[in-house]
Amino acid sequence: MLDPRELRPEALRDQAQRLGANELASRRLLSAVLGQGIHDPAVWGRSFQVPRRLSDAIGTLPRLTQDRVVTSEHDGFEKIRFLTHDGLAVETVLIPLHRPGAVSLCLSSQVGCAMACVFCATAKMEKRRNLASWEILDQWVQARDRARSQGRRVTGVVFMGMGEPFLNYDRVITAAELLRCPHGGQVSAKAITISTVGLVPEIDRFTAEGHKFRLSISLGAATDEKRARLVPIAARTPVATLMAAARRHAQSRRDRVMLSYVCISGENVGPDDAKALGSLIGDTPVRLDLIDVTDPTGRFLPPTAAEMTTFRDSLTQYVGQPVARRYSGGADIQAACGTLAGALNESRNTKILQGQVEIGDPGAAAGSHPSI
Ligand code: SF4
Repeated sequence: MLDPRELRPEALRDQAQRLGANELASRRLLSAVLGQGIHDPAVWGRSFQVPRRLSDAIGTLPRLTQDRVVTSEHDGFEKIRFLTHDGLAVETVLIPLHRPGAVSLCLSSQVGCAMACVFCATAKMEKRRNLASWEILDQWVQARDRARSQGRRVTGVVFMGMGEPFLNYDRVITAAELLRCPHGGQVSAKAITISTVGLVPEIDRFTAEGHKFRLSISLGAATDEKRARLVPIAARTPVATLMAAARRHAQSRRDRVMLSYVCISGENVGPDDAKALGSLIGDTPVRLDLIDVTDPTGRFLPPTAAEMTTFRDSLTQYVGQPVARRYSGGADIQAACGTLAGALNESRNTKILQGQVEIGDPGAAAGSHPSI
C-alpha cells in the first residue's frame, strides 16, 4: 500500500499523477493527514475531495498507539510514550516555550541508539531500529493534536529525541520535508532543528543538499581523548574533522552553526576545556549551547554554580562567540536530554486518569531542549 507519509511532497505528487490524480489531490491529501490529523480514507473523499483511486491505493493509515502521557510537576514539560506495532516504546516531548501557549516538539528518530554516549539512557536500550517516516510524523501529529486540545500551538520541531537522526538520514529528511510542506505540517524550515552527535559524511551530505533546516552538532568534549570517553562511537572521527564539517556548513549557509555541549562536573568544564574549545572553534562562526547533563544513574553530575561561572568566564576569554545556557527540562519525568528510554517516572504525585498521567501546577520558565 502507498503511504503518503513515506514520500517527499514531489514524490507524492508524482505517485498521485500515476494514479490519475492531479497535484491538487496530493495537496489535499497532505492537508487532511498532516494538517488535520485525519487518517480515514472515507473522510478524505467526503471532506477533502481526494479522488477514490488515490485513497483506495492508500487505505487506512497505521498509527502509533499512545500509551501514556506524563507531565512534569516542575516545569510543565510533557512526555508521551508511544508503542509501535512491534511493541517498542518511542518517546516524544512537548516543550513549553517562553512565549505563552507556544510549544516545541522533540521527536525521536530511532528506537534506542547505537552511538553509545556514556551519559545517555537511550544508548542503554536493548532493542534498536530506525523509525519509519510515518512513525516520526505520527509522533508530531499526535503531540500537536494534544497541544491543540490544550489551546497551545506548536511552533517548532527538534529531532533530538531517541536516536541519532543522521543514522536514519533519508527517513528523517522525508519527515522534515513533509513537516515543512505548506500543505503538510506547515512548520517553517528554520523552526526545524536536526541534531547530530557528529556523523561527518551525513553533515556534508546535509550541507550539499542545501536543506534549510537548522543543524545542531553535539560535541561532547573538545579533545579526542575526552570525546573517546564520553561519546565513543562519534569520537572515531577526530574532533578537528568534525569541526571542519561544521565550518563547511557555516560557510555554505553564511550563518552560525549551532554547537551543543553537555556540561559534566569535573569532566569537561574546566578552564583547559574552554581553551581547547577556543582553539578547536577558531574563527568558525558558531553559537555554543551549554546543557547540563541529566544522568538518572547519578554517575555524571551537572557542574556546580562555581564550576559554571569559571567555565563561562573562560569561554568568554577563549571562544568569544555567543554562548547560551540551555534548559533541559522534564528531569522528574525522564524527559530531559539523554534520559529518554521508554520509562515513566510515576511518582507519588502522579495521578493516572484514563490511561494518561497528569501532574498539576506546571512551573513557569522552560526553554528549548537541545540534544547532547
Ligand atoms: S546522546 Fe544522542 S547520539 Fe548519544 S547515545 Fe544518546 S540519543 Fe544517541
